[in-house]
Amino acid sequence: MSTKNMKFETKVIHVGGEPDPTTGAIMPPIYQTSTYVQSSPGEHKGYEYTRSHNPTRTRLEENLASLENANHCLVTASGLSASTLIMHMLPKGSNIICGDDVYGGTYRLFSKVFPDIHNYTFVDTTNLKKLEEEIARLKPALVWLETPTNPLLKISDIKAISNLAKKTNALTVVDNTFMSPFFQNPLDLGADIVLHSVTKFINGHSDVVGGALMMNSKDIRDKLFFYQNAIGPAQSPFDSWLVLRGIKTLAVRMKAHQENAIKVAKFLEKHPKVERVIYPGLESHPQHKLAREQMKGFGGMITFFLKGEIAESRRFLENVKLFALAESLGGVESLVDHPAIMTHASIPKATREQLGIYDNLIRLSVGIEDVDDLIADLEMGFAKV
Ligand SMILES: *Cc1c(COP(=O)(O)O)cnc(C)c1O
Repeated sequence: MSTKNMKFETKVIHVGGEPDPTTGAIMPPIYQTSTYVQSSPGEHKGYEYTRSHNPTRTRLEENLASLENANHCLVTASGLSASTLIMHMLPKGSNIICGDDVYGGTYRLFSKVFPDIHNYTFVDTTNLKKLEEEIARLKPALVWLETPTNPLLKISDIKAISNLAKKTNALTVVDNTFMSPFFQNPLDLGADIVLHSVTKFINGHSDVVGGALMMNSKDIRDKLFFYQNAIGPAQSPFDSWLVLRGIKTLAVRMKAHQENAIKVAKFLEKHPKVERVIYPGLESHPQHKLAREQMKGFGGMITFFLKGEIAESRRFLENVKLFALAESLGGVESLVDHPAIMTHASIPKATREQLGIYDNLIRLSVGIEDVDDLIADLEMGFAKV
């Protein structure tokens, strides 16, 4: 069966998972090697050095490419190193338009590391009219979207924005970490490159850091591969193997995350100590309609505003137990994050508040535990506020 015809649930298990040809082992070997023996100088089996290629990583790349309906995939050492490769690929002095509500580390990379090389303009990409003006004014080389955004879960119209970008030959990159390939496929909507922090839902077990880039253009793939090989952020064979293991349950995990998240979001929406809940699956989400159109589901991330200030937030965060207070997201276990102090601390307070990231904003990564236990845990936190 061609992998193109397989359903998602089959691809996660079978693509790149062919039995080992030498032994028949059903699980892929971990090629824990840095180098490969050549029969004559320059004559080898396609593998020379693990920074460049590794058979375990190749299997993961095949699997991930198929999940985003992409022709190519590169797996990197982290999500941020994947972002870094894209920045190196662009000609020096490029104009880049980036969504104004992105992962804190992406904001730090673009505002502290690369401004000497490129020019960044942060724009609310949910405002298409404003974005169109900025694209016409700046003639950017690249438009960077994160949708839904972290932590405000704002949704940008991937199809409309890719079309706007194409008019000025700009590439569109979508950070698809929050939805995972199960709920959203940006290449199918016209994007040029999809980025994932593999650390999150794709691996799903909070035991690996990794990144991935998926694309259809061989030219873009080759440029990015050049920089990956030249700069060096390759994922280790063991980590690639762990992701291959974790990814087998991506479909069942995403369904479970979503089922729990819907129940938790509805619970929060009714709670007297909650000011407002943001979840793309709620009718109250300002872009619920767009979410329904471009996503196949709503994911496991919820943001809410507690009634109160920083002191109340602290009380809540110190008193939930199942929801572990930790950065990151997308693992089977539930996590809770306070963006203003934790993940988004690198964004200046004034900018944060302009965006709506206040001190009473709490982000949940809803895991796949029993949902009644999760709700009881949140209730414990609220009781102490
Ligand atoms: C975590 C994250 C990243 C960065 O990925 P790392 O694997 O931590 O380097 C980028 N984008 C989003 C949306 C993330 O959540």
